[in-house]
Amino acid sequence: MHRFFVDPDCFVGDRVVLPESIAHQIRSVLRLRPGAAIVVLDNTGWEYEVLLHQVDRQQVVGEAMAKRPCPNEPTVQLTLYQALMKRDKFEWVLQKGTEIGVTHFVPLVTQRSLVQEVDIKEGKQLRWEKIITEAAEQSRRGCIPTLHAPQTLAEALAAQSAQPGLIAWEAAQGLTIRKALGGDGERPLRISLFIGPEGGFAAEEVATAQAAGLQSVTLGKRILRAETAALVAAALVLHELDVI
Ligand code: SAH
Repeated sequence: MHRFFVDPDCFVGDRVVLPESIAHQIRSVLRLRPGAAIVVLDNTGWEYEVLLHQVDRQQVVGEAMAKRPCPNEPTVQLTLYQALMKRDKFEWVLQKGTEIGVTHFVPLVTQRSLVQEVDIKEGKQLRWEKIITEAAEQSRRGCIPTLHAPQTLAEALAAQSAQPGLIAWEAAQGLTIRKALGGDGERPLRISLFIGPEGGFAAEEVATAQAAGLQSVTLGKRILRAETAALVAAALVLHELDVI
């Protein structure tokens, strides 16, 4: 069944009026007809099975037949601090990270990031949000991951200081994600993961992160591209912490 995130305002009681972008998709791309069922999500973790009543040029309207909590959200909140890199690589991380289960994305400006601006143009922000939303629909997420404004490494370290954090560093010796997170200790409900840009983190950036309480972890003996590292590390963190 096709899945769509809508603003909770689209609901009036059990009746849901789909916004034009989704109405267009239903009417002209998927060519669904009255009587077809879709899943609508309100981005608070609930999903509704909706029967379409009206599909025409004026509007697309349905009725919620059943409501249930979406069971597919990870049980740990994973914030991926990803150093800004080439546009297509960064967008790939947003899309695949959403599929894997990242809950928050923070673009990071580091010493060696190709992009050094902290201001993201509105068009780019909307494009990134669209990529994340579509990936969340496709992968059957219950909530759309949050895309935060870019931060410098110093800002990010200050903002995340209350939760455990890992920084992937190719020069880290021995500490794997499994060793860092496994064991009998209490399972964190939130965790931060820092991935560097194409050129890697500078040694003093890693030292600053360690001083702020992050653990530097290795992803193995091979050097991964930044975008590969992001996804491998996110998957490994969720493998250790997400109770299925
Ligand atoms: N320029 C560096 C590699 C940077 S890889 C060099 O050639 O030596 C880009 C990012 O991916 C790094 O900042 C790190 O966060 C992550 N990364 C890649 N391979 C890794 C590995 N084997 N262990 C830990 N982190 C890794």
